Amino acid sequence: MSLTPSDDSTVDQQSGQKAIDSGLYIVATPIGNLADMSQRAVELLRAAELVAVEDSRVTGKLLHHLGLKKRMVRYNDHSSESDRERLLEAARSSVVVLVSDAGTPLISDPGYKLVRAAHEAGVTVRTAPGANAAIAALSISGLPTDRFLFAGFLPSKAKARDEAMADLAGVRATLVFYESGPRLATTLAALSSGLGNREAAVARELTKRFEELVRGNLLDLVERYKDQEPKGEIVLMIGPPEAEGVETGDVDAALTEALQNLPVSKAAAQVAKRFGLDRAELYARASAMKKAQ
Ligand code: SAM
Repeated sequence: MSLTPSDDSTVDQQSGQKAIDSGLYIVATPIGNLADMSQRAVELLRAAELVAVEDSRVTGKLLHHLGLKKRMVRYNDHSSESDRERLLEAARSSVVVLVSDAGTPLISDPGYKLVRAAHEAGVTVRTAPGANAAIAALSISGLPTDRFLFAGFLPSKAKARDEAMADLAGVRATLVFYESGPRLATTLAALSSGLGNREAAVARELTKRFEELVRGNLLDLVERYKDQEPKGEIVLMIGPPEAEGVETGDVDAALTEALQNLPVSKAAAQVAKRFGLDRAELYARASAMKKAQ
């Protein structure tokens, strides 16, 4: 592994001074604890000609805390094309930073259209990674982290929410949602009837004073929150469905048959799809069976 202290700068040939390269920088900010701001994120904000922000009051407080005064421009995905063009024009010759109110921009936050437009316009886009509530929650949840699906906020209208749940029901991965206190009980009840009584976890106020992780199955959590609306910000995680009713013998028989006509990877993919199993696991099993043949 090689660690580079700062690879954003180039030495100016004439002055010999280091200057941070121009471009659009997507900079993560803390989700609660201000000490989670990275040194590089601070350097980029210090070097920024322009800071594109969701809410200038929120970012203004962060800049004040860091002792910085910067030109801020409000930006969100409803901003006009000409707003985007102005930001990208500036990013051709100077450092333009995009931040959101908290965490990583573009993750349930504005920035997607700007980043796409930057790529189309040939403007360099770089990341200064940092806090993200979904990843932070997942890392302490005790739920499987080898495969996860981040689904943002579930729709609040029942019909759209049920459709979204139907799409997610067969996904063999931990599901990660953003949620709010007032909606939590309704969402938990809907998920337990839509997905079954799976393992789950509620992470609240991460990195803040009242950080809390509550683990249990969905019915436990429905019971716990039905009359108690939690305060603060929430990430809700649901473990993957159990591979019920799949007999190893059936899977092996299907693999043996598939391996007669298909290469290992295709045989594994076909059987994984049929039984709703993990493709990588079946690939390993199919390879072993092929070798033993
Ligand atoms: N871009 C942010 C990120 O990288 O995590 C997320 C922005 S989204 C608009 C805000 C949602 O993230 C909140 O409603 C909550 O679900 C989740 N969230 C943000 N901060 C959190 C925290 N400290 N603890 C738990 N959840 C948090």
